[in-house]
Amino acid sequence: MELFYNNGRVGLVSARKIIKERDREIKQLKEFMVKQKEQLEAIRKAMKAQEEFIVNISHELKTPLNVLSATVQLFNIHCKRGSLDKMQGSIIKYINSMNQNCYRLSKLINNIVDSSKIQTGFFQLHLSNNNIVEVIEDIVMSVTDFTESKGLNIVFDTDTEEKIIACDVEKIERVVLNLLSNAVKFSDKGDEILIDVKDNDNFVEISVKDNGIGIEEKNLESIFDRFKQVDKSLSRNSEGTGIGLSLVKSIVELHDGKIYAESEVGKGSKFIVDIPSINISDDNVIHSNKISSKNESVKVEFSDIHF
Ligand code: ADP
Repeated sequence: MELFYNNGRVGLVSARKIIKERDREIKQLKEFMVKQKEQLEAIRKAMKAQEEFIVNISHELKTPLNVLSATVQLFNIHCKRGSLDKMQGSIIKYINSMNQNCYRLSKLINNIVDSSKIQTGFFQLHLSNNNIVEVIEDIVMSVTDFTESKGLNIVFDTDTEEKIIACDVEKIERVVLNLLSNAVKFSDKGDEILIDVKDNDNFVEISVKDNGIGIEEKNLESIFDRFKQVDKSLSRNSEGTGIGLSLVKSIVELHDGKIYAESEVGKGSKFIVDIPSINISDDNVIHSNKISSKNESVKVEFSDIHF
């Protein structure tokens, strides 16, 4: 009886051990399956985003191409008929439209290339010490013609005249022009755009505020995702791909800074960029912030806005 009991106990212990082992294996298998499911879901989402991107990009490429092709055909017909002089009054208008659509294609190609460079880690900053107040003011000055022609009032404000920080001027220009072009896109005649530079000791705060259509709270974070567009129908007077803000965010983060948006639907939006106030030691020379091709950059960045 004793032996049976002992044997029974021994037998029970090993059975329990086997069951415990099986339970552990089942738990591991379940965890593995959950991970597999998550990975599958991530791949599915990435493929959907890729698909949307291709549809979006194709549309964005086709629109300026169609304008260019239609205008070329028009010129061709008039050349063949010998009636080019009859359209003299509108030639400049057609050339301007072709020009703007070339800039639009440039913007799109730049954004696609930079976006993929960022994804693969090949996008680099060229840092130098610069007066950020002057850099931003110069950018604002360069867009006043555009904003005025759209009936918008643009205001620059700052609490300091000079703040030297390490930044890549060309990339900061890209960030601010992108935010400004969005502010213009989603505003209406008579609205105001305010660009403010604040010295917050450890960091510089650059904000771009508009009183345009605004953004719903649930979209305030996702607008910085690649290819995210809230609602195409809302951007009545413009086109876009949803790449701009994700590029802007990456550039700000490469500067060790951060970007976020505050908004109220129907009242407007404010995009705030914080860049750390640091100087780089191996560059004691303060670089000139005059960018020779600024006008070209403005034309490229504002090319998807219809005037
Ligand atoms: P897009 O090329 O479509 O403008 P962005 O990445 O620049 O792409 O912007 C993503 C989306 O964020 C826009 O499609 C728009 O819905 C929203 N958005 C960005 N800036 C503003 C703004 N100032 N006011 C309202 N909506 C904005």
